[in-house]
This record gives sequence, C-alpha cells and structure tokens, in this order.
Amino acid sequence: MAGQYRSDRRNRVSYLRPAITAMNGYVPGFQPDDVASWIKLNTNENPYPPSPKVVEAIQTEIGSNGASLRTYPSASSQRLREAAGRLYGFDPSWMIMANGSDEVLNNLIRACAGEGEDVGYVHPSYSYYSTLAEIQGAAVRTYGLTDSFKIEAFPEHYNGRVFFLTSPNSPLGFAFPLDYIEELAKDCGGLLVIDEAYADFADCNALALVKKYENIVVTRTFSKSYALAGMRLGLAIARPEIIAALDKIRDHYNLDRLAQAACVAALQDQPYFRESCRRIIETREWFTRELTAIGYSVIPSQANFVFASPPDRNGRRVYDGLFARKILVRLLSDPLLAHGLRISIGTREEMEATLAAMAEIG
Ligand SMILES: *Cc1c(COP(=O)(O)O)cnc(C)c1O
Repeated sequence: MAGQYRSDRRNRVSYLRPAITAMNGYVPGFQPDDVASWIKLNTNENPYPPSPKVVEAIQTEIGSNGASLRTYPSASSQRLREAAGRLYGFDPSWMIMANGSDEVLNNLIRACAGEGEDVGYVHPSYSYYSTLAEIQGAAVRTYGLTDSFKIEAFPEHYNGRVFFLTSPNSPLGFAFPLDYIEELAKDCGGLLVIDEAYADFADCNALALVKKYENIVVTRTFSKSYALAGMRLGLAIARPEIIAALDKIRDHYNLDRLAQAACVAALQDQPYFRESCRRIIETREWFTRELTAIGYSVIPSQANFVFASPPDRNGRRVYDGLFARKILVRLLSDPLLAHGLRISIGTREEMEATLAAMAEIG
C-alpha cells in the first residue's frame, strides 16, 4: 500500500530544501547499549561522576512530588549566568547559557552567516561546524594545519562571517598559543569563535581576549570537565551585543529546571571540580609517557584525550584489537587521521588496562 501511495506521487516537487537533501548528517561517537561492559574512551566523557552537590541540587529541585516541574524554568537562566559570570569574571550580560555548547555553535552560525556566506574552520577539528553551516545554507571553507600546528595559508584578511578555532584542538589535543589567537583575531573580518570544550584541562584559555577583541567569542561545555554530558549544558561568552543577538535566536526555555539547578551546583563546587580535572591531567601525563615507552607517537595533549599512533601507523588494526577486548576508542573516518586513534582519558585503572591491551596488540 505504501509503495502504491508513493508511486501515485511520482514527479512531485520535494518538500525539502535542496541543502538538506544534499547534506550528510553528523555521525556522533558510538554509544553502546551495554555501556557497563565496555571501557568507553571514544567520546571524551569524564570517567568520574559530577559533584555530589549536583545530585542533591537536582533532588531538591524536583522536591518530594515534582510540583516545581509544573512551571517553566527561568528563560534567561538568570542564577546560572550570575554564578558563571562570577566564576569567569564577566557581567551576566556577557554570557549566554546553552542546551549543550552544540546549541550555541548552531546559533552563532544562524546569527552571522546567511545563505552562501562563508563559515570557516580548521581541518581536522570538530566537523559538526560543517553540518551546522550546511543546514544554514552557508558555504564551508576549511584550512589545514602545518607541521608546527599553525593554520596553513590563513588569509591576511579572512572575510568569512565566522571562523571556528577549536583550542585545545580535537582530535589532536594541542592548544593554539594565545599570541597566535590574537593575530588571528586581528586578521578575521568576522567572528572568531574559540571552542574551548577542553580548556579546563589546558594550561591557558582565551577568556581575557574576549574583553580585548570585539570579534572573539569563547564557548565552553559542561559535558567534559564537569561530567555533565547527559544534562546538555554549555555557554558562550562574548560582548553584550552578540549575546543579545544570540538571545533572540535561541528557544526561549532552552535549559530545563534540572539542568539549571545542576549547573549552578557544579559551578559552586570548585574544589571537587579542580580535583577531578587534576586527576585526569595526571593520568593523561602518565598514559602519554607509558604509550611513548612502548613505541607509540603521542601528540602532547592539553585536553582529556590523546591522539596516538602505533609504529606501523595503522590505527584500524589497533582499534579492532581494542574493540575485541571491549575497549572503545575513536578511529576517525578521515584518511588524514587513519594512522592514529583518539583515546579519552579514563580512570587510572581503565588506562592501565588499555595500556596493557595496546602492549599486547603491539
Ligand atoms: C564535545 C564538544 C562539543 C559539544 O559539547 P556539548 O556541550 O556536549 O554540545 C563542542 N565542541 C567540541 C570541540 C567538543 O569536543
């Protein structure tokens, strides 16, 4: 029946925009159903739970009978913006909260790049920028990296509407030096968005540059360093004019009550947060040394993962060997990255098991 219905309508005009028909959707990292039976090191989640204060805050917000859920949450995530503003040293008018930083990346493109206008980013980095630009009908231009991790052939005057700089870079883990970011800001005619998803694991960040350059926007996520990937929380920091524009575009109740309560509690428990980051960084440094000792090339990382290549530069072989042992890492489909693997930093015990498996696989 269904087939007959379809054939009756042959030659009809598509209901879809050509840009949507033409695009490939983004493929997120694999999330296995039986997650407890894996060592899961493929999507840079935090191996430690969020602060116990987060769980308390969610329970308090729900209350005994969930009555608070009847009413809409704060549309502007007011308390949360104040808490984040205090921590980062900005007035709340410089901050916008997002339902995952992916939401605000999308809205930055919607705010700035019209149909056919240029959006740029470094390749390799986060290919989701490209998916978001394609949805908008914007043109995508990517720039490669030199051997010393600078952008190859970046124009003296970049006149695209938005340029995304992932720093620390994913999947490679290095961070761009701040003086280099300043140079890029001066060369950019449009917005320079520094995607700092991993900055809490790095030696420095670009927050001070937001005050210095009117075209710099910094985005952060609570998915990695704050262990809240399951709650979908992110933010952007930029000049109030830019924040006001982003505010017009977002869904008015973009963050639910539980996410707002959880995020305030997470931001307030800085001692717990700092200790969790410290352990991950310590394990990262240990894992890097040990992998190097068994012959891997490892790019020094400023994030909660490393990009590592075996001596035969065959990422697929090691991926398969780890997969067979129920250890999940990220093999990127890009041929440019086939020589290695992106491995998230788990607990010390998980990384010891992974290292032993890699030594065995050879
Ligand atoms: C994880 C990640 C994001 C997405 O963060 P969410 O807040 O989970 O949407 C954005 N950018 C980069 C570079 C990431 O690695």
